[in-house]
Order: sequence, then C-alpha cells, then structure tokens
Amino acid sequence: MKLIFLGPPGAGKGTLAAKGVEICHIPHISTGALFRSAIAIMNPLGSKVKAVIEEGRLVDDETTILLVKERLAQKDAQSGYILDGFPRTLFQAKALAAFSAVDKVLNLEISDAAALERLSGRRVCRKCGANFHITFNKPKHEHRCDVCGGELFIRKDDREAAIRERLEVYREQTLPLIEYYRNQGLLVDIDGQGLVDTVVTNFKKALEIC
Ligand code: AMP
Repeated sequence: MKLIFLGPPGAGKGTLAAKGVEICHIPHISTGALFRSAIAIMNPLGSKVKAVIEEGRLVDDETTILLVKERLAQKDAQSGYILDGFPRTLFQAKALAAFSAVDKVLNLEISDAAALERLSGRRVCRKCGANFHITFNKPKHEHRCDVCGGELFIRKDDREAAIRERLEVYREQTLPLIEYYRNQGLLVDIDGQGLVDTVVTNFKKALEIC
C-alpha cells in the first residue's frame, strides 16, 4: 500500500503514521524527519536546509524530490510506504507521479487554532524522534522521552512565528494538492481533531481494513 498523508502542520500526520507502520507493516517516510537527521549531523544537506526549515519555509523542490526519489528506491519501500510531509507542492506531486504510483491520499483535517495549540505544546525526543505534548500526551518525566530516555526539546520551527509561517505556506502551496488528488479519485478526508484512537479507526476504514 502506497500512501500519502496530507494535512497542515499539527494535523497529526506523524502520530497516525506511527500507528500506520504497525497496522500496514510499511515504512514511515517523513521528509521533515529526513531533513532533521541531516541537520543533526550537519552533512551538506543539513547545512543547506537548516535556516530554511527553522524559519518555517519550504526546502526547494529539486532537493526535496531527489531525497524522496532516493529513499523510495530503497528495498523496504518497494511494497509500500507512508509518505508524511511529501508532496507539499504541485510540482512535487507531479514529480512523484513520474516515479511512483500512489494508492491513496489521506487528508487529515484540523482547524488553525487546534494546529497552533498542538504544535506549540509539542516536545520531540532528540534521540528517537518520538513526539509528546505537554497537555495531550504528557511524557512521564518533563524532559525525558518515555520510549528511549532521550532528551525532549522544542523544535525551532514549533515557535509561534514559524508555526504561523508554516500554516501560511501550507495554505498557499500545499492546499491545491487536495483538489489535485480528489480529481484523481485518490483522496479520503479524515477528521484529524478526534482522539488518536478515533483517527486510527477512520484510517482503517479509509483503507477498508476493518
Ligand atoms: P515537517 O516535519 O513535515 O513539519 O517538516 C519540517 C520542515 O521540513 C518543513 O517546514 C519544511 O521546511 C521542510 N520540509 C519537509 N517536507 C518538505 C517538502 N515536501 N518540501 C519542502 N520542504 C519540506
């Protein structure tokens, strides 16, 4: 199953993708996470994209498409994948169509207010990337990851100015993808504001696996 998760920052794409990995046994491929790993080790890709990401802008299409093309060529992605955070522009969507045929696009819907609340309370593990929230998904210890004990931090692009920029960028560049995929009969809308379990149930229904 080859899936795309669409939706604004804070819609819960990463959280649902982690569940999707267990349900569908396919890899979760997050362009944001790939970029953050590159930044953590400051390789050439990391130093190229660091400032753009921290300001909440989009990395250029060429760099992003190449990254995804190489990742999808790996063995574990041959029978399926969950693409989280890609494509984010029509140009990227058309490029993807030339090297991989997607089965379904899940569009997670959430209001701006809810996105802002989720992102501003998000904490991420520096070591394993697990996500927590200071209100909705509290870690047992304030600064430590429940999964691996790593240090929890606030992403630079989860500060208010960057969040507003990301929501704006989403509206301008990514929103047109909804119609693009709807017209191809691939899109399924999912309410992203419910409890995680409800969103997971809707996800399974969308894939007709429950
Ligand atoms: P995310 O973790 O999906 O919120 O992505 C974090 C940041 O990585 C975004 O705000 C962008 O700066 C960059 N990024 C991730 N995916 C893409 C993409 N498909 N196109 C351009 N930039 C991206």
